[in-house]
Amino acid sequence: MMAQYLALREEAGDCLLFYRMGDFFELFFEDARTASTILDIALTTRGEHLGQPIPMCGVPVHAAESYLARLIKAGCRVAIAEQVETPAEAKKRGGSKALVARDIVRFVTAGTLTEEALLEPRRANVLAAACELRGSVGIAACDISTGRMALEECAPERLAAALARLGASELVVPEGWEAGPEGAIRRGAHEFSADGGEARLKGIHGVATLDGFGAFTRSMLAAAGGLIAYLDHVGRGALPLLLPPEARAGDAVLAMDEATRASLEILEAAQGGRRGSLIDAIDRCVTGAGARQLAEDLSAPLMSRAAIAERLELVEWLHRHALLREDLRAALRALPDVGRALGRVVAGRGSPRDLGQLRDGLAGARRVGDRLADLEGVPVLLERLLPDLAGHGALVDHFERALVPAPPTERGQGGYIASGYDAALDELRVMSGNARRAIAALEAKYRDETGVAALKIKHNNVLGYFIEVPQRHADRLLEAESGFSHRQTMAGAMRFNALALHEEAARITEAGAHALAAEESHFEALVAEAVASRQAIALTAAALARIDVAAGQAERAAEGNWTRPQVVDGLSLEIEGGRHPVVEAALKAQGERFVANDCRLASHDRLWLIGGPNMGGKSTFLRQNALIVLLAQAGGFVPARSARIGLVDRLFSRVGASDNLARGRSTFMVEMVETAAILAQATERSFVILDEVGRGTSTYDGLALAWAVAEAVHETNRCRCLFATHYHELARLAETCEALSLHHVRAREWKGDLVLLHELADGPADRSYGLAVARLAGVPPKVISRAKSVLDKLEKGRAETGGLAAGLGDLPLFVAAQEAREEACDTLRDTLRALDVDALSPRDALEILYDLKREA
Ligand code: ADP
Repeated sequence: MMAQYLALREEAGDCLLFYRMGDFFELFFEDARTASTILDIALTTRGEHLGQPIPMCGVPVHAAESYLARLIKAGCRVAIAEQVETPAEAKKRGGSKALVARDIVRFVTAGTLTEEALLEPRRANVLAAACELRGSVGIAACDISTGRMALEECAPERLAAALARLGASELVVPEGWEAGPEGAIRRGAHEFSADGGEARLKGIHGVATLDGFGAFTRSMLAAAGGLIAYLDHVGRGALPLLLPPEARAGDAVLAMDEATRASLEILEAAQGGRRGSLIDAIDRCVTGAGARQLAEDLSAPLMSRAAIAERLELVEWLHRHALLREDLRAALRALPDVGRALGRVVAGRGSPRDLGQLRDGLAGARRVGDRLADLEGVPVLLERLLPDLAGHGALVDHFERALVPAPPTERGQGGYIASGYDAALDELRVMSGNARRAIAALEAKYRDETGVAALKIKHNNVLGYFIEVPQRHADRLLEAESGFSHRQTMAGAMRFNALALHEEAARITEAGAHALAAEESHFEALVAEAVASRQAIALTAAALARIDVAAGQAERAAEGNWTRPQVVDGLSLEIEGGRHPVVEAALKAQGERFVANDCRLASHDRLWLIGGPNMGGKSTFLRQNALIVLLAQAGGFVPARSARIGLVDRLFSRVGASDNLARGRSTFMVEMVETAAILAQATERSFVILDEVGRGTSTYDGLALAWAVAEAVHETNRCRCLFATHYHELARLAETCEALSLHHVRAREWKGDLVLLHELADGPADRSYGLAVARLAGVPPKVISRAKSVLDKLEKGRAETGGLAAGLGDLPLFVAAQEAREEACDTLRDTLRALDVDALSPRDALEILYDLKREA
């Protein structure tokens, strides 16, 4: 056994090995140590290896799924080694001492799950592969629980942002790729070949060319090759559901890097988890598939105005037709998760219940489609989805006839094929039913014959059917000629058999076995039928999800009085009465009101510098505008009175370091790295929010950096930008930057107390209310009054020296400095050109050098 174990252990590589022994999966050696710690189960020992006791732990097979879920969550991957023959078969093969053959039947990894119990219903589970080919990176991503697959390509420096958007739970990259992200799984580089990937895709989809699916580059195909090879490996050759790949152009979506996603808390709140995230505040989907689609929409907002308008039109239509919306949502809520049921069926792990879910889901889709098809003025997007909802009539019909209304998750006991579907099966069931009745009749007969009223016919897995009587009545049955044969003596009871009982029992067993076999073959035929229609079924699932998203968005808009945004071509950003969906919801829960604020950015006024006290609402204002852009381009309504948004190509959000302390890196360094990325990448079409950038260092450094960053954003990037800062001195930028304007959040001191109005107003902040905020926060009065006297001293000093920003007025704007530098270069060039070097005496040459040096 040790030899067999070690061979399998070798094959399992860096996965934990679940080694099946009877009713348990056992783990040994290091695996046992790791698993027992994570699962908090007892670590024992068994036998010896090289003179040392072998650590061991185990989990019961029937409960394995929940243990697997915890291991996967903890970042492990697991190889499942099953017994692939019965002990009886092993004996027949190799004598009484033969070891049962075992084999790794599959690998369970975070990115390749299909089990309902291991997946979160409202979250897609993405497996991605990436590789680099001649300077460009190909990425293949799929969700094997639904079969969706997309291929894309990007420049190497944009890989991190693309991966952040995809949010993959597992990433595969070629061995030896140095730029490959940390934590990725490394696989043989030969698996990432463009030709190989293309051939695999053609083979899977039975096509001679991939042109019908889209235009794929070599790097995309290479990544696809790596992805499919990995799926092959984990499934031991059984490929999961894969739909035709979709080619995704890198510039088709609003670009956001990882830091931006994290700081906007799109799918996950800063403290982790969904609570407090954007999606948590807006998700009104009634199906898991809808919620997954919404998460995808929010992760990858669109860049095409036409596509955005299509989605918005559908949301608006459903917003207007409230009754229809309610109807639709009620219908959708009742539907099972068709996409994931299909995923399990195609992966060969489907159950009768999954087939029932396909039947019910597809029948429901049809009803939804019928309901919509009769309506007038249906939006274009919906019209395009309608054909995907119809169809499947034959399959639904067939499944309705074949399956019982609520099929079980296990097929070992049978009972899922409906009666009336197969006459032979019905007959077998009648036979076993008759035999059961006959056995019941035998019980009465034996009681009569023996006169033992307490006689019972019972059944267990070891003896099958048997007769049981209390010990004190056993004599009658023990007599020879009684027709009963003794089988077992228990405490207080005795068990017997009888010929007639034996015969009826055999009939049940035989009919039962035949019936099971018949059901099994029907099951396989039904699975094959579903698999053959997998692409059409997946389209239906996608159409249902899209409708659920739109209805949910409409519902949310109606609930919160949201509005349809206008997405236009220009470079303005005009939001009237904008609100922050998460903060507003939190305030509402406490019975407080959110103060709506306007934002009006345009080419001639594209950078807003926002001052005002801490806690005054600066961050909230910045973020709400970024979120409104994101929601609009994802094709949804927005929390505002009106919104006119010039299409944004990249969205950046940066928060000054001290808010990020929890991340535990050199926070100021992180802040600067992230800010550098904005300066390098933001275009005129981008929208940037900078929250207290520069705060993470000393006052002078911080002010200087904030100053320079604001200038660069204004002069070089020329993007739309909201910049929150507590440095008053920055206000002086307004004197030199013509498209920069000053704003502040209002506050008032009233009877010595600070009142934060959360209202945005034009003009610079008049003062900082730091001490007032401190008092508000409960800092003791003694400390406050001491701070007050320190402040007075500082301010006095500042007034005398001209303040922290004294002299900044003479600072040449760096553009001016650059111009001056360029001018100097030109002069130098002209002088050199005018020289006749051959005609110069050494002394003249030296003179000229001295002159040039002086001027430089
Ligand atoms: P700052 O960035 O200026 O320090 P925040 O944006 O973090 O301030 O806001 C602080 C708190 O003020 C928020 O947690 C919220 O409770 C409240 N707040 C912010 N904006 C508003 C608003 N527009 N209306 C009502 N309350 C608000």
